Amino acid sequence: MPSTPTPARPEFGALALSPAQLANLQQLGYLTMTPIQAASLPLALLGKDLIAQASTGSGKTAAFGLALLARLNPRCFGVQALVLCPTRELADQVSEEIRRLARGTENVKLVTLCGGVPLRGQAQSLAHGAHIVVGTPGRVMDHLARQHLALDQLNTLVLDEADRMLDMGFFDDIATVARQCPKDRQTLLFSATYPEGIAKLGAQFMKNPQQITVQAQHAPDKIEQRWYEVKNSERLHAVSQLLNHFRPESSIAFCNTKQQCRDLVAVLQAQGFSALALFGELEQRERDQVLVQFANRSISVLVATDVAARGLDIADLAAVINVDVTPDPEVHIHRIGRTGRGDAEGLALNLASMDEMGSVGKIEVLQGRASEWFPLAELTATGAGPLVPPMATVQIIGGRKEKIRAGDVLGALTGEMGFAREQVGKINVNEYSTYVAVERGIAARVVARLNAGRVKGKSVKARLVGDGA
Ligand code: ADP
Ligand code: MG
Repeated sequence: MPSTPTPARPEFGALALSPAQLANLQQLGYLTMTPIQAASLPLALLGKDLIAQASTGSGKTAAFGLALLARLNPRCFGVQALVLCPTRELADQVSEEIRRLARGTENVKLVTLCGGVPLRGQAQSLAHGAHIVVGTPGRVMDHLARQHLALDQLNTLVLDEADRMLDMGFFDDIATVARQCPKDRQTLLFSATYPEGIAKLGAQFMKNPQQITVQAQHAPDKIEQRWYEVKNSERLHAVSQLLNHFRPESSIAFCNTKQQCRDLVAVLQAQGFSALALFGELEQRERDQVLVQFANRSISVLVATDVAARGLDIADLAAVINVDVTPDPEVHIHRIGRTGRGDAEGLALNLASMDEMGSVGKIEVLQGRASEWFPLAELTATGAGPLVPPMATVQIIGGRKEKIRAGDVLGALTGEMGFAREQVGKINVNEYSTYVAVERGIAARVVARLNAGRVKGKSVKARLVGDGA
């Protein structure tokens, strides 16, 4: 497909950033600004309050991360920036990204404050001094109430994924935290959508906020969008037909309801697909496991509601499957933006029944083009056997708390245990456990050798994590 020339994107060099920060961005491979960064950073660096709206994956974290780091004085003790996020998962992702961005500034200390772990360790980290706090509203309030955390030195308050925080009922908590911040602070609000509550937040807690909206845009010919008309009774089965025909290595299947997620995952698993669901009610540990397995390529299909997938930094996907048509055309654009990132080509597969044609029409209007329809009957299994992910996940009991590092695990596997470097994929070390992706064919042997052998001189327990197949 011939690529249409895109206008040159602005470079970070145009901003008032330190030479060390510019060098760091180069090293991270951030050569040009994304549209939301180009629109928000000049204003944010001037100290303006902002309400910025852009879709998931558009680079909002660096937009506020660079702004808060630019104002930070590492020689000055005290919390100078606070980022509120809706969930622990998102707080972890934001912390990671800010840590990367902070490599351009010396001695920056960042503490993440989320529920699910004891307060004491977090209180100790705060007592050792923190310049930046990233956390969920509830846990931040806990530490404020116990006076582990003081915000009198605060320069920058960030509300990330503000729409989702409102969905989760955090308005009052945000208000409580904002009231404890100095009046002359800068407030930056980032959101993927713009529900009513955002204006209310802006009016109550921000000073003359500048509004920035970057419309979701996709080069129209980079994401191939195919539509299939289905009866409601054939919808779930049609998903497996799509998977068998297009064989995407990894895909997200978006459903409009949790019940649909449950039903679809059951159907896919029964047919031998490695598929897992991500929806609101999962416990944090289960969510972590699902996401780790998806990111390390050991499950093929992630079945999710829009709310559950919002904000997650999931790398480029081979395909997005819209199992149900979303009634909100903006949401459709967000969904399909998960495929076709960077230079990759994208594939969006859409199922629609007659009673959803009104929603299809709204999507056509927003995208400014008609949908292309294909008959379901055209889908044929390629005969290549079931769709199998390339990797499998092995869990080792023990993580950061046991001082296990990724290098220790890789060393054990490729040393004594005799596996090749290429057979080992992503290694995620969490607080209490470690997840290792390995080639599917060797997974059972990896488990056996780990259980018989040692990591960092200690014997460990390992098991294969289920992927639904
Ligand atoms: P959002 O918060 O808008 O959903 P993120 O901040 O999570 O998006 O960014 C999505 C991905 O894009 C991240 O993996 C991030 O490292 C990457 N990224 C952000 N800014 C740039 C840039 N200027 N150039 C290249 N990659 C970037
Ligand atoms: Mg984000």
